[in-house]
Amino acid sequence: MAHDPNCIFCLIVNGKADAHKVYEDEHTLVFMDIFPVSDGHTLLIPKDHCQDLFEASPDALASLMATSKCVATALRAVVEPEGLMVFQLNGAAAGQTVFHYHMHLLPRWVDQELALHTRVLGDPARLAELAEQISTALD
Ligand SMILES: [Zn+2]
Repeated sequence: MAHDPNCIFCLIVNGKADAHKVYEDEHTLVFMDIFPVSDGHTLLIPKDHCQDLFEASPDALASLMATSKCVATALRAVVEPEGLMVFQLNGAAAGQTVFHYHMHLLPRWVDQELALHTRVLGDPARLAELAEQISTALD
């Protein structure tokens, strides 16, 4: 598997950086966004390093997409949002800030201001709790 030693998401895949992990299989890793825009903000990444949609393999994307449905269903059951936004950014001009493909699952509520990123760290205890609850709800 291709890994970039300077990529924070590769470090998470390799266990060299911490994350509140929700799920993983051969191809995909799911964890809580450490800068959550809303409660339950979750990321899915292919374990194999690829910068963006254009570099990602169709197989990695297919696997990640199938996993996204399972995780979204569990996330919805746990957080009970009024809506769920799925987004994926390619290139700095599009707002991409970590250059390892990632899909966002973002719970949304009516009247909540629309934002894609925040620089406010999530509460670690809450992130751990959510990861545990979503993981359990996956079964
Ligand atoms: Zn990477």
